[in-house]
Amino acid sequence: MSVPLRGLPRYYAFQDNLIGPDPMADGAQDWPAWNDLPNTLSPLRPLTGWRYWAVVTTDGGLVAPFSTKVIWSPGINRSSSLACQVRHGRHPMPSTRENPCRCGIRVMQSLTVLRAFAARQGQGKIGIGKPRIGPLAAYAEVNVWGRVAPFAPEDDWQYTLRAEFAEIVSLHLAPTHAMHAEALAERYGIEVQLTKPKTRKASEPSDNYESEH
Ligand SMILES: [Zn+2]
Repeated sequence: MSVPLRGLPRYYAFQDNLIGPDPMADGAQDWPAWNDLPNTLSPLRPLTGWRYWAVVTTDGGLVAPFSTKVIWSPGINRSSSLACQVRHGRHPMPSTRENPCRCGIRVMQSLTVLRAFAARQGQGKIGIGKPRIGPLAAYAEVNVWGRVAPFAPEDDWQYTLRAEFAEIVSLHLAPTHAMHAEALAERYGIEVQLTKPKTRKASEPSDNYESEH
C-alpha cells in the first residue's frame, strides 16, 4: 500500500495529475533548470513564458487572474515588492522559510501547464465574489527579465517563473472574446491574434525542468 502524501509532495502530485503526463506537450519554452537559473537576466536575453488574464470589458484592459486591482500596463510591466514580507534585497528572490518572498510577475513554461492551471482557477472565487476567470480568455507569450526566481512552492505551481520585468510578445484571444480585439490592440499597441499560437514541442525530456525544492 502507498503512503498518503502530505504537504508539498501532495501539492505537486495534485498539480501533476491536472497537467498530465507531458507538461511540455504544447508551447514549451526553453528554460534552464532551476539550479542554472541566473538571479538576474539582461533585457537583451530575456526568457519567454506564458501568462493569461481576464479582459475588462469596459475599455479593453487585461487584468491579472488573482487580483482584480492589478491591470496590465502597456509596454514594460514591473513587479511591485510593496507587500513583500521580506524587507531587504532585490525582488523577487528565491522563496525560503527565512525569506518567504512572493514577489514577481508570474509566467509559466508551456501552454499545457497554463491551460491546466487556468482550468483549475475557473472553480474558485476571487475577492469581490465573482468567479475566477477560467479557461484562457486572453493569453500571451511574455518576455521576462531583471531579477528572476523559481516558483514559490507553497503558492505557485511548478513550471512557474517569477520576474521583475515583463512585456507581452504576442497576445492571443479566445474566439469567445473576439469582440475585444480592437480595444486591446489599441490600448496595448500590439497585434492581437484570434488564432491558436504556433507552438513547438520541447526537444528535451521534461525531466530537465523538475524543481529542486
Ligand atoms: Zn519579495
